[in-house]
Amino acid sequence: MSQPCVVRVGPLMPFLEDALEREYAAPSLAEVGTQTAGLTVAVAGGGTIIGAAEMDALPGLRAVANFGVGYDNVDVEEATRRGIVVSNTPDVLTDAVADLTVVLVLDVLRQVSSADRFVRRGEWAAGGRFPLTREVRGTVVGILGLGRIGEAVAQRLEPFGARIAYHSRSPKQVPWAFHVSPVELARASDVLVVLTPGGADTHHLVDASVIDALGPDGFLVNVSRGSVVDETALVAALEEGRLAGAGLDVFADEPHVPTALLGRDDVVLLPHVGSATVQTREAMATLVLDNVAAFLATGRLVTPVS
Ligand code: NAP
Repeated sequence: MSQPCVVRVGPLMPFLEDALEREYAAPSLAEVGTQTAGLTVAVAGGGTIIGAAEMDALPGLRAVANFGVGYDNVDVEEATRRGIVVSNTPDVLTDAVADLTVVLVLDVLRQVSSADRFVRRGEWAAGGRFPLTREVRGTVVGILGLGRIGEAVAQRLEPFGARIAYHSRSPKQVPWAFHVSPVELARASDVLVVLTPGGADTHHLVDASVIDALGPDGFLVNVSRGSVVDETALVAALEEGRLAGAGLDVFADEPHVPTALLGRDDVVLLPHVGSATVQTREAMATLVLDNVAAFLATGRLVTPVS
């Protein structure tokens, strides 16, 4: 058999791993040892770092197919400098991530997870009354990063009666109110939903000033990347009653969640499951395979990152 040209980097879902082994006899990076020269395409698991060290280890590398729409795990600047192209998996996960974001917005307002714990602790049976919660209708939901997922979230929340506002780097052709900065958006919002990419450009975009602008009756929902929110400032605001609550799918140091959050009833904590449905993960894997096949056949990717 000819030498493999595709390499698996980091953990991949079995559906994708099986297909790569079947179609390309693709080894994992750990398996190839020093026989790396012929490996031209790397398939990277979501969150797997592909930086200069990984590129050095793969001198023949020409393309990286990343499993995920976010690609802050790949040093795209370094890849571009070396003539390596990078693809991601846009669109196919938009619905699943938007659905989960809406679940978090509803949960922080209606306190579903907290009410579930209240029942399980026996407090209802013991005669307790769960506190009144907040309604979606009339709530201003500010979307920080009105891209594919942000727009899908806005479209889902409008029929609930939410009022939508947003901030992105540039205004969009949409009927919703644009705010010039994250602080201005937070000031106008009851719930701030964060849906920007991660990476250096958005590091701590949601800092103490944004959290304070949201205020003691405000809620933060983060489904983007943990790096976008200053987690220390978030924990301090919750502990000091300067924020009403938070719904978090992503964290600064996954899979570690700040201990201070674990015992709080005013936060909903999810293990980075925005796109984690059977259908969406298979669609993402299929798009990764399409990118690999297209690159090997034509030298071009189907969904290159800009
Ligand atoms: P997208 O279409 O590229 O949208 C990103 C939006 O963020 C764009 O509107 C962009 O504004 C805005 N943005 C970028 N940098 C910004 C900045 N510095 N300040 C303000 N806005 C900024 O991407 P998408 O498909 O919606 O995905 C968004 C992100 O969601 C991904 O990058 C990923 O981090 C996250 N995600 C998380 C999960 C999960 O499981 N939790 C799953 C999928 C995706 P412009 O349009 O003005 O450039």
